[in-house]
Amino acid sequence: MSATTPPVALPASNDAAFRQFICRACGYVYDEAQGDPDGGLPPGTRFADIPDDWACPLCGVTKADFEPYVAPALPRAAAPVAHAGRGRHDPGVVIVGGGRAGWQVAQALRERDAALPITLVAACSADLYDKPTLSVAIARGLEPQRIVRERAADAAKRLDVKLVTEAIAVRIDPVARTLRTTRGTLRWRKLVLAHGAAPRLPAALPPQQVWRVNDLAAYQRLRDALAPRPQRVVIVGAGLVGCELANDLALGGHAVTLLDVQPRPLAALLPEVASQRLLAAWAALPITFVGGVQVAGVEPLADGTRRVALADGRAFGADHVVAATGLAAPDRLARSAELAFDERCGGVVVEPATLRTAHPDIHALGDCVAVGGQASRFIEPIGRQARAIAAAIAGDDDPLSAYVPQSVPLRVKTTSLPITVHGAIGGDGDWRVVADTPRELRMQRVGAAGTVIATLVATAPAAVLPRAA
Ligand code: FE
Repeated sequence: MSATTPPVALPASNDAAFRQFICRACGYVYDEAQGDPDGGLPPGTRFADIPDDWACPLCGVTKADFEPYVAPALPRAAAPVAHAGRGRHDPGVVIVGGGRAGWQVAQALRERDAALPITLVAACSADLYDKPTLSVAIARGLEPQRIVRERAADAAKRLDVKLVTEAIAVRIDPVARTLRTTRGTLRWRKLVLAHGAAPRLPAALPPQQVWRVNDLAAYQRLRDALAPRPQRVVIVGAGLVGCELANDLALGGHAVTLLDVQPRPLAALLPEVASQRLLAAWAALPITFVGGVQVAGVEPLADGTRRVALADGRAFGADHVVAATGLAAPDRLARSAELAFDERCGGVVVEPATLRTAHPDIHALGDCVAVGGQASRFIEPIGRQARAIAAAIAGDDDPLSAYVPQSVPLRVKTTSLPITVHGAIGGDGDWRVVADTPRELRMQRVGAAGTVIATLVATAPAAVLPRAA
């Protein structure tokens, strides 16, 4: 075929086939066949016909941040293929973790191999849900029990995975290739750590006095505790999780006090102007932000409430205290197998391209890993990491199968003022305001070479705009 061959026209039947598009910010897949009925798009709505102001139902970016997606087909169950090192009693792959990362690895492995034995071990129920939904559930009128997308047992059947739930992985024997859990010991040929990270608690926040909301079960318990009436909630930490939760609980009528050591919310991610804009948007909600403070301690009071004491002598009364002070992967499993662990960012050290740990047959992905000294606690990379691990386990060394970290849009899902940042978030460079109207704030960040290295858009939702006279 010469280089000048014109593109081949697709047959009419292909033209009509429904396509899929993936959100680059959160991994949500828009399927034209299914549409987004909750978002006003009936089944069969073509991507091209979606209005520009339609928002991703999971994270809220617009269609400009979607790209075409082709879901790999599951292979038909076939006679087991003979693989090197795989006898009749092959224990196959054991995955530790029943969150998105664990299931994505199971899916990616199954896409490559219909016969591979796969076992998924989870400390929780392993039901499938989209974690970003936890930040916006009240705004979207979602009861916690409606957040589950698929029951673990159904997913296990669909992917032909052996499921061991409510089992805590205790230790790895890297030589005997076993994993000890609270529900028995499992053998593995390849092991994948997908157990996520846990909230990091400063000494001033005793675990029995504070909520930590990092999974659906904990979120559901918090919502149950808050359900009877509006309550006073103190949230410690005004990063992404703290701000999104403050916004959502305040929409639910709770009086939120948001505390941070930094003088403004989202100080590590946003320029000052954008933080101020968010505070202004919160003026209509029962949120009090108190910045530049250090929590000294949380004490239970006789009436069942709590007293949050600050280092400067002030104190706040609270019915509930939520810690949103960051995450760190638990290091117990990694240490038991003598895997390298990055203490600073709290993650198992992996090789970037293959997500292989220091042990050649143990991989790790998602919230529990450190790639190049950085933890990546976002949803988007997980699917690509899972496919890279599946490729490495299958012995596929095609560079196209390797994991490559990419810059993805950052979406702050504070529904009173959602904010999207594209490009460089940390590092040097100055932000400047490009447009500032009651509806919208647009900013650009200029790097050392004088080029734009990041952009920011904060758009007030139509409902909260002051009405025209
Ligand atoms: Fe999204």
